[in-house]
Amino acid sequence: MVSHHFSVAADRLCLPDGVRRVALAAEREVQVQLPVRLHDGETRVFTGFRVQHNSVRGPHKGGIRYHELVDLDEVRALAALMTWKTAIVDVPFGGAKGGVNCSARELSEDELERVTRALVDRIGDVLGPTRDIPAPDVGTNAQVMAWLMDEYGKLQGDTPAIVTGKPISLGGSFGRQSATGRGAVYAYREAAPQLGLTPESTRVVVQGFGNVGSWAAQIMTELGCKLVGVSDSSGAIQSDAGIDPNSLLLHLAEGGELVGYPDAPDAVGTETVAPDELLELDCEVLIPAALGGAIHAANADAVRARMVIEGANNPTTPAADEILGDKGVHVIPDVLANAGGVIVSYFEWTQNLQHFRWDEDQVNQRLAARMQRAYQQVAQRAGDGGVSLRVAAYELGIQRVIEAGRLRGRLGYT
Ligand code: NAD
Repeated sequence: MVSHHFSVAADRLCLPDGVRRVALAAEREVQVQLPVRLHDGETRVFTGFRVQHNSVRGPHKGGIRYHELVDLDEVRALAALMTWKTAIVDVPFGGAKGGVNCSARELSEDELERVTRALVDRIGDVLGPTRDIPAPDVGTNAQVMAWLMDEYGKLQGDTPAIVTGKPISLGGSFGRQSATGRGAVYAYREAAPQLGLTPESTRVVVQGFGNVGSWAAQIMTELGCKLVGVSDSSGAIQSDAGIDPNSLLLHLAEGGELVGYPDAPDAVGTETVAPDELLELDCEVLIPAALGGAIHAANADAVRARMVIEGANNPTTPAADEILGDKGVHVIPDVLANAGGVIVSYFEWTQNLQHFRWDEDQVNQRLAARMQRAYQQVAQRAGDGGVSLRVAAYELGIQRVIEAGRLRGRLGYT
């Protein structure tokens, strides 16, 4: 998907073949074996990946994913996505991504810690606060980042700036946990007037109720929107009267499953719905915030939302993107919509380097300013060129990366 979007934008920019080859190739791909003793006494050998796609605009930056389906192709695509995303929102980072093919849900806390320490043991020498700075992604969280920072510190000396998305007490930034979901809501705020939408007239459906989806749901409802559908890997629920995301979070924190929420005392009017039907619910805004490929050729035509805000990475296949475009759906692409996370990761990194801390309001205000600027720059370009936000965003990101590569003399050794 990422290389498809790259090609569309590169054609419009008339990039020569040699420049395309440099821009598409990863600078480094590391694959390692991680033998880890599990509780049952068995040793499993997981595979870990770190792909460093491009660093002409700054150190590599990107999340680490723990999921059973992680493979090199996926990590490669997500690393390139980070290169364009960091350039589009103009933070001084390149792109990277990492992962381990383990199921975070099935491993105990101890086992996850062992996987993480084994990963740092194997890839620690390509990381560093001026080289490559990981962050959380699917299946990883602040605790995993704390172990990562600790293990790296054993090798290199204590270095909080090695990782972002850490716990606040270890140098994490206020506002980082909510940043991706909050950034998606800031993107909605910029786009809504164009569609004549107000929060009070906006019904929202969120697919995936993890870090990104749950924060997006909470902040959209704080703004005045109504959450009418939500799902996670256990299933999907809907309510015309609206679902209170805080009550749902409480239900989950008490050990309940999302599909069991309709039985909760304050869930009157909420019912389960087939996961496939969630994307077809009547609403103004759909936020896919789970995994890639959720909106595809077979279901895109059934989407009834007027706006799709891509909280997840690569949630819309190229074929689905075309169908949504033909239907006039306003798609805010992942490289813009979910960039709030990397923006506040940048804030966390700069705070760590300066041994300084901003309060949450400062973080959120700076995030809002950067999301607003990025959205308006992309929207202006889309309007001028008569193209989608996605094509305009990729054009902007690619141009910035190529410009930095040219100035550094990195478009090819002679
Ligand atoms: P997470 O692990 O916290 O949450 C993922 C959620 O998706 C969980 O609720 C899970 O149950 C749900 N899910 C999984 N399969 C599903 C399915 N088939 N249908 C419905 N729900 C399903 O992960 P996250 O950090 O929230 O990341 C979600 C997406 O956002 C990923 O694509 C990730 O790459 C992207 N993203 C995350 C960040 C970040 O800061 N965390 C930043 C940018 C992009």
